[in-house]
Amino acid sequence: CEARRAGRRIGVWTPDVALAQSWEWELHAQLRSAIREGELVVHYQPMRQAATRRTTAVEALVRWRHPVHGLLAPAAFLPMAERSSLIVDLTWWVLDEALRQCAEWRRRGLSVCVSVNVSPRVLSDDALPRVVDERLTAHGLDPDVLTLEITEEALIPRPAHAAAMLARLRVRGVQLSLDDFGTGYNSMEILKALPFNEIKIDRGFVSDAQGSMPDIAIVQSVIDLGHRLGLRVVGEGIEDEHSERLLTELGCDLLQGVALSPPRPADELTALLSPAPGRPEDIPAYVAHPP
Ligand code: C2E
Ligand code: MG
Ligand code: MG
Ligand code: MG
Repeated sequence: CEARRAGRRIGVWTPDVALAQSWEWELHAQLRSAIREGELVVHYQPMRQAATRRTTAVEALVRWRHPVHGLLAPAAFLPMAERSSLIVDLTWWVLDEALRQCAEWRRRGLSVCVSVNVSPRVLSDDALPRVVDERLTAHGLDPDVLTLEITEEALIPRPAHAAAMLARLRVRGVQLSLDDFGTGYNSMEILKALPFNEIKIDRGFVSDAQGSMPDIAIVQSVIDLGHRLGLRVVGEGIEDEHSERLLTELGCDLLQGVALSPPRPADELTALLSPAPGRPEDIPAYVAHPP
């Protein structure tokens, strides 16, 4: 036991490591076939305009309908996917599915934009701009209906490469969102240097904002900062009416959280989406603050 503990510390082989490793391989093989066999599904969580209470955008969140374990949340398989190139295949699949669904809603006259999460490994994949172009064209969508959500951690490993990638995406007209804002170390630096259109205040600040003065001050400052920089601001993790009211009063543009709606299959969401006046092709993409 002593030896095992020592072994783990210096990272050599131990029975536990071997077990974890073989579990990882197993899960990897299963996920690879899941992508092919259509076991992945995308759920959508509304982002509602605080001022009008209309749902103008949805975030695509992947789930795995596992034949044995049931519906799996991303936390159960994304970290493993991110350690391998499977995350790339998974992301192309989610992107295609989310854009297909968005195009279908828009054909039915529903004015909705879609956000897709892009992980560190995918952000550093040189194919990203080309795949985004191809998928938008295939579904007949304008680039500004798509927002890519990127966390600060994705920008850290190769900052210059990430900046160049974001610029390549922005010139195409795709929107960029800084996800989980406030959880990283150089948030200000990132906002100053990179072409984001949106920030999503991490739910850690939002659910704690319940009455605690420092958190309210932080949320207020982030909203003001975002607006001064011409960005729209989303509050995530709205879990009750109190935070819904508070973030609305503080001037947050869009709200997202279980108090409004949990992530749900597309067909359950259709009733929440706003029909747009006029023909679908006249619907402008939602931009609270122009880029
Ligand atoms: P995220 O992008 O920050 O997404 C928001 C997460 O918060 C989602 O968890 C959502 O279900 C959850 N959430 C929504 N409202 C509330 C609320 O009121 N309270 C609380 N406590 N949580 C709320 P989910 O779906 O489990 O996804 C977790 C993370 O996995 C996401 O965080 C995102 O980073 C990642 N992810 C999900 N789908 C994808 C995907 O298709 N591709 C990639 N690369 N990452 C994904
Ligand atoms: Mg997100
Ligand atoms: Mg987030
Ligand atoms: Mg998150």
